[in-house]
Amino acid sequence: MKVATGTKIVGGISIGKIRVYKPPVYEISEEKTEDPIPELNRFESARVKVQEQQHALYEKAVKEAGEDSAAIFEAHEMMLDDDDLIDACKEIMVEQKQKAEYAVRQGFDNMAQMFRDMDDPYFQARSADVEDLKNAMLDVLFGNDPDSIQGSEPSILVAEDLAPSETVRLDKSLLLGLVTREGSSNSHTAILARSLNLPTIIQCKDIADDWDGQFAILDGYNSCIYIEPTQDLVDSLTAKQKEDQKKEALLLELKGKPSTTIDGHQVRVFANIGGPSDVGAVQVNDAEGVGLFRSEFVYLNSKADPTEEEQFQAYKRVLETLAPKLVIIRTCDIGADKTIDYMNLDKEDNPALGYRAIRICLTRKDFFKRQLRALLRASAYGNLGVMFPMITSLREVRDCKEILAECKRELANEGAEVGNIELGIMIETPAAALIADDLAEEVDFFSLGTNDLTQYTCAIDRQNAKIEPFSDPHHPAVLKLIQMTIEAGHRHNTWVGICGELGADLSLTETFLRMGVDELSVNPKSVLPLRKQIRSIDLSKE
Ligand code: PEP
Ligand code: MG
Repeated sequence: MKVATGTKIVGGISIGKIRVYKPPVYEISEEKTEDPIPELNRFESARVKVQEQQHALYEKAVKEAGEDSAAIFEAHEMMLDDDDLIDACKEIMVEQKQKAEYAVRQGFDNMAQMFRDMDDPYFQARSADVEDLKNAMLDVLFGNDPDSIQGSEPSILVAEDLAPSETVRLDKSLLLGLVTREGSSNSHTAILARSLNLPTIIQCKDIADDWDGQFAILDGYNSCIYIEPTQDLVDSLTAKQKEDQKKEALLLELKGKPSTTIDGHQVRVFANIGGPSDVGAVQVNDAEGVGLFRSEFVYLNSKADPTEEEQFQAYKRVLETLAPKLVIIRTCDIGADKTIDYMNLDKEDNPALGYRAIRICLTRKDFFKRQLRALLRASAYGNLGVMFPMITSLREVRDCKEILAECKRELANEGAEVGNIELGIMIETPAAALIADDLAEEVDFFSLGTNDLTQYTCAIDRQNAKIEPFSDPHHPAVLKLIQMTIEAGHRHNTWVGICGELGADLSLTETFLRMGVDELSVNPKSVLPLRKQIRSIDLSKE
């Protein structure tokens, strides 16, 4: 048995034969032509044909993976209308008297390089789209059939990399999983794989041509592929796969259904995410919105303090993709367990009670304003909620609102477009829960952060495994604070959600519904099990 590891894009188990895919390699000569007109015509008819193909791929992707994942093919169609790109290719044919194939390779390669040289990882990943279009153009010019990626039997597909168009062309009924040597978690192949919910690993450096035809198990959970696995492994991973299939059936059954109790009480079931790369999971699991986007991951994933523009792009992408769903972005909750070198935070004896979250933002105003401006600008692209973490006083909320108003004024003067936002705070300290009546006057919603609320109420450091046995996630004091917060919110027309881990605890769902909670935000995988639980509850029965 051989084992090769990579980076997980989608978990899950697939078992079957491997198909190693090798894209065609085209020999492009530098032989010149006398007359550029026939080459210009060949280029133009290839361009039109590829645009038609991209349109067909768009329609196929809409059906298989949804509008959002398909949008890339619309973007491809537009890229092929780009004057700079077309003119660059034409110039090579006219000035250098090169053939259409040569001009396509040169013109498209230059554009791909331009994307690769950009700083933003999102734009860097767009170079793969240009490469994809180049290959589609070369396929047409060389008369190759692009649909010949798979064999005729179900297989785990192994490739150097897959372009978005190759991923969509795949016959999904024959596809057990995907393994690539290259690729990034921002690439559209990764995005599509997520929306298809297909076990996928990328950056698997050890893939080899002689895997073709061998029996394998792709273990997406552990980011590895076993070639010719032992019988013990086959048995245990087959059992795991069966368990997953049962859960999958639950998923299919509940997708598109409302999160309503037997007696007709509706609650919103949202998902918690850490960044744009989790959006696919929100869609696949049919969450009704995002109740907690932990924006600090945008900071943690960056080598330097992210600029306003970088943040704007990340927030915009999530909002645009999920519109019109509500997306609640929590402002940077750094500190305590989440430390970042470039923030130069001092080491503290008591970090959970220390300089963290809103305390940092309110004392580093420029840092805070960069995020608020990015959020306000992104609000024009979807339905945004903004919430502040670690609130303990009315003063903090008013200070946050003042800085937000200052950013709004600045953006109005600059003529920037800004949408409406819902404003909220996290209730994750006993202090906030106890003054919830006053706080509710200031905001549209509360979101109960039960992880920290439990830590601060029970005086149990959530990072310290040694004292975990002392922790009771159902502690009556925590439940009482939750109830008080919901009641206080409702007295002031402020809706109340739960975004801490307790929201996914199915043994408490009925309790929370009886308390009147309006929204539960859980990790994407818990969305459908929670919906199932809600649909089994009858609040009319005592
Ligand atoms: C919480 O404290 O419950 C919460 C959702 O925030 P985090 O877990 O990110 O601290
Ligand atoms: Mg918290």
